[in-house]
Amino acid sequence: MVTNCANPGCKSTLRSFAEGRFFHFDIVSVSVSAGDASTGGFDEQPQRQNIDYWLCGDCSASLSLVLEPVRGLKLVPLGNASAVSKSLTAD
Ligand SMILES: [Zn+2]
Repeated sequence: MVTNCANPGCKSTLRSFAEGRFFHFDIVSVSVSAGDASTGGFDEQPQRQNIDYWLCGDCSASLSLVLEPVRGLKLVPLGNASAVSKSLTAD
């Protein structure tokens, strides 16, 4: 359940589902470490995870969220998706 704005510098509380913008991410992760190739650890089941984030009205007016496989959740300015303003960890 999302209760706060995903912007770490904001953290507004979710009061209305009509406010701001919701982001839904489907994450599939396979835990294969660098050493697993020699031990044949490729039969692991991928882990599926559904994660929801919310940006409040103020933040969603100027920011968007993207999820990168390596770096995780990132806040990006609207209309400039290649620019990185902040890195977040999904916890
Ligand atoms: Zn916010």
